[in-house]
Amino acid sequence: MDAERVKVLIIGSGPAGYTAAIYAARAELAPVMLAGLTFGGQLMITTDVENYPGFPDGVSGPEMMDMFQKQAERFGTTIHFEDATSVDFSKRPFRVESEERAFLADCVIVATGATAKWIGLESEERLTNRGVSACATCDGALFRDKEMAVVGGGDTAMEEALFLTRYAPKVTVIHRRDELRASKIMADRALNHEKIEFLWDSAVDEVLGDEFVTGVRTKNLKTGETTDTAVDALFIAIGHKPNTELFRGQLETDDVGYLKVEPGTSRTNIEGVFACGDAMDPVYRQAVTAAGTGCMAAIDSERWLAENE
Ligand code: NAP
Repeated sequence: MDAERVKVLIIGSGPAGYTAAIYAARAELAPVMLAGLTFGGQLMITTDVENYPGFPDGVSGPEMMDMFQKQAERFGTTIHFEDATSVDFSKRPFRVESEERAFLADCVIVATGATAKWIGLESEERLTNRGVSACATCDGALFRDKEMAVVGGGDTAMEEALFLTRYAPKVTVIHRRDELRASKIMADRALNHEKIEFLWDSAVDEVLGDEFVTGVRTKNLKTGETTDTAVDALFIAIGHKPNTELFRGQLETDDVGYLKVEPGTSRTNIEGVFACGDAMDPVYRQAVTAAGTGCMAAIDSERWLAENE
């Protein structure tokens, strides 16, 4: 496949990728973005973003990503809504391919983000999209007036549980400890909500149901007692894993798969390849921090190009 030569290729289109694009475009580097088939990142499945500065009344995740995209395009970013399928960082310019096209890039900004984790049960996999889901915003409305459950104790789990109260008469949150990890404001909202109940110290043993979810079997980790709760939907909200498989063997990662960068920079182990957003951030994982590191990656790229051209 003939390759198009570009200065900066950005892989990924969440807040990190788009911010990198805005900065690189404004630096007249004519960035090209492989946005992915499921573009926009995790904010595409987020209802209300209330903690991004500049939006005092909140904004919906998809609306925000639409604004990011328009701003990146306004300054001259070319966007292809395709997945990157292979990368070769062994020599410069770096070769990156999608199903449709190939690029030779002077530098690459990796902003591939993270995706939801699953518990790993056979019944969970079998009943996925049959009542098991990792996205309340996407699937909650399908179970109007039905009882539902959410697994997890972090902000995502609280957000999903609160969102589901729009539809469900009762939402059960199943958490493996007796203390929530979620921020105080989100935790308090869920704890004080009349439709939300908590099953503490509990792990999901099995998702019940043949064709569709009919319930969930949990085990109390302190007493060993097993409980069946009748629900029509089970939302898994137990965190995320970085989307870095494509770079395995080329970019250094930690044990979990988060890309390693030189502290305080976006520089990876390969000169000319920069990483930003949730793909390299196991700690903060916020839209605003992803945007911040996207900005860093664009500035690091610009400086690196200036030094190496
Ligand atoms: P998280 O903070 O890592 O929380 C994951 C939760 O799932 C934890 O309570 C954890 O239990 C539990 N868990 C993990 N693995 C499990 C397993 N195998 N089985 C059962 N439970 C398991 O992930 P998150 O809630 O997705 O949040 C990620 C980041 O995004 C956080 O920084 C969060 O603040 C941010 N976020 C913010 C908002 C908002 O402000 N509106 C919304 C969503 C997310 P333990 O507590 O026992 O570890």
